[in-house]
Amino acid sequence: MTRNIKQIVSQLTLEEKAGLCSGLNFWHTKGVERLGIPSVMVTDGPHGLRKQSGSSDHLGLLDSVPATCFPSAAGLACSWDVQLVSEVGVALGEECQAEDVAVLLGPGANIKRSPLCGRNFEYFSEDPYLSSEMAAAHINGVQSQGIGTSLKHFAVNNQEHRRMTTDAVVDERTLREIYLASFEGAVIKGQPWTVMSSYNQVNGAFASENSRLLTEILKEEWGHEGFVVSDWGAVNERVAGLAAGLELEMPSSNGSGDRKIVEAVQNGKLSEETLSNAVERILTVVFKAVDNKKENAVYDADAHHQLATKVAAESMVLLKNEQAILPLPKSGSIAVIGAFANAPRYQGGGSSHIKPTKLDNTLAEITRTAGAAAQVSYAQGYRLDNDDQDEQLLQEAKDKAGTADVVVLFIGLPDRYESEGYDRQHLNIPGNQLALIEAVAEVQSNLVVVLSNGSPIVMPWLGKAKAVLEGYLGGQAVGGAIAALLFGDANPSGKLAETFPVKLSDNPSFLNFPGEGDKVEYKEGVFVGYRYYDTKEIEPLFPFGYGLSYTTFAYRNLKVCQTELTDQDTVTVSVDVRNTGTVAGKEIIQLYVRDSISTVNRPSKELKGFAKVELQPGEEQTVTFELGKRAFAYYNVDLKDWHVETGEFEILVGASSRDIVDSVSVNVISTVSIRKPVTLNTTFGDLLGDPERAIIANGMLQKFSEGSGMMSSLMEDAPEMMTAMLNFMPLRALAMFSQGSISEEAIEGIIAQMNEVK
Ligand code: BGC
Repeated sequence: MTRNIKQIVSQLTLEEKAGLCSGLNFWHTKGVERLGIPSVMVTDGPHGLRKQSGSSDHLGLLDSVPATCFPSAAGLACSWDVQLVSEVGVALGEECQAEDVAVLLGPGANIKRSPLCGRNFEYFSEDPYLSSEMAAAHINGVQSQGIGTSLKHFAVNNQEHRRMTTDAVVDERTLREIYLASFEGAVIKGQPWTVMSSYNQVNGAFASENSRLLTEILKEEWGHEGFVVSDWGAVNERVAGLAAGLELEMPSSNGSGDRKIVEAVQNGKLSEETLSNAVERILTVVFKAVDNKKENAVYDADAHHQLATKVAAESMVLLKNEQAILPLPKSGSIAVIGAFANAPRYQGGGSSHIKPTKLDNTLAEITRTAGAAAQVSYAQGYRLDNDDQDEQLLQEAKDKAGTADVVVLFIGLPDRYESEGYDRQHLNIPGNQLALIEAVAEVQSNLVVVLSNGSPIVMPWLGKAKAVLEGYLGGQAVGGAIAALLFGDANPSGKLAETFPVKLSDNPSFLNFPGEGDKVEYKEGVFVGYRYYDTKEIEPLFPFGYGLSYTTFAYRNLKVCQTELTDQDTVTVSVDVRNTGTVAGKEIIQLYVRDSISTVNRPSKELKGFAKVELQPGEEQTVTFELGKRAFAYYNVDLKDWHVETGEFEILVGASSRDIVDSVSVNVISTVSIRKPVTLNTTFGDLLGDPERAIIANGMLQKFSEGSGMMSSLMEDAPEMMTAMLNFMPLRALAMFSQGSISEEAIEGIIAQMNEVK
């Protein structure tokens, strides 16, 4: 239906307009009946619907309607499958239609700066490219159903510690290349109906009233068309927020925010035009929801559960598989040990906590999948509600473990260890689980460990396990997926979307997380995750992009369509990938770019492309990638733009960030010349790097060595040393070192001449 929203806005009173800029209650926007403006519902997100019909809270404590719980983002990202993530989005959109929800509050695109962040399970990756691709796929899936999304938490919300007050201090290049890049791609490719501003401050201004973020970057630069909603309770100063580009305050401010807006317009502190524009943005989304509403929509809960099983199986990552202990035979005796097998940890705590439509019991799924020829026994092993060792539970586990052919041990992080609202203090699992591993390993060498956690843990016990399957928080169908993977009904195909460090102190943010008081400085700069570990050559426990399969893959024929290009061109990269094993499987091929020589400090490699392909045994497929300017560029803070430095770039293709199989070089020529003005403090090295200025500089040098006898003999005797020294010599030093043969006036003249070279 076509509507003239501007005209509707023009009929609203000042008070009505102000009123539309905050919620009616916890989950609804306000309506204006006389103009046919409805109230619509927004609700969490991101990996399932948390629609509350009774009392409301933003911490996931109170009841909500049943909805399919999909794996949370930490796991979902390990699928590296945009199509699959988009299918999850479609299912979420269908559930929103059925439950009359207009906007789903998600996905979250914050970067995993530290593995300690309590909310990492809700975020995709430490890498902005992977994160933004996942977020865009999620958004496109949900929105294809006529339901809006809310890309959150914009921006630089990478910890829960003091999340409502802390100031994230981050330099411009890092902000652009890491923290904003994760949102940028999602906004441009997904055009989310709404973006949620975060609680924290960014470089001194609350995200909810940060005009640079909300207006200049989000709206003007990236072209976001929807509206910005505050995180729940994130508004600091309502009028400043509105002026900065925060359209909707959530939840209701009980009239306080609205009154402030009215007053500000009346006393001239806020233009009515700003208010009207905000209302126009809000109403555009509200009516989009109305126009896309599917009456009497229903969804197939069983089909969604099946999808959740498939997604969980694609998201889990096989970290270790010695002697090919997995897949397990469907025979013999299997001791399943660990409380998580019977009480799965399948989602995280806080606002994303939903009530599932049903929940797989992992033990039951293992028993069912193993079939009649196998004998499955179970022991709890540890308690989940505290970390104390229970001798009786330990003994029982040991007894079962000792008599079985193989043990499948379920360990990980209990709910109380990680949640929205607080960060972890360490990467350990509870002591009672560590004791269990020791006890079981004493009596059983065929040990398979299955992990349930939203974020990395340390594994001092790794040498005792033959196999480790990282299950993350697998959603309501976690049990079926684990069983399918353990017995080979499904082949593991997930790869880590984050680095698992050997120890916490290896993490680049270690010395500056979570900051001091209300200030956290991102001193590691762009060196986040593998960008740091790989550049610094620190061996991780498991690297970014890593994951095993029950089959093997070979790569060959890495090719580029051209080796010379400008930063305006696109280059096509192709590689052939073959399944060299005996079972069907999926491989995630990763493409990284390295700038061979750069004048800025760049990571040793950065992810710029990936693809997931399914291959039958012996099958080969050609995988192609398109790389444009952004694949080679860094953010140049002087230019205030992305910039490619002319020169050689290596294109690295491989199976993980640490398993680069092949590489090829291209030469990229910049079409933008960045010439800094020449001054008395410009060095010869800087001039010699610029072909046109180099001609003039060489002329000067010639004169310089002719004029100074000592210099000319040094130049003859030790040319390399002299050149190296001249490299860092500023022009002003010429007058003195040439002993008067080049005057200061002559140098000034040459500087003027050089500055004419455009
Ligand atoms: C969370 C958001 C969530 C909102 C509504 C906040 O506490 O940070 O992610 O969407 O509550 O529940």
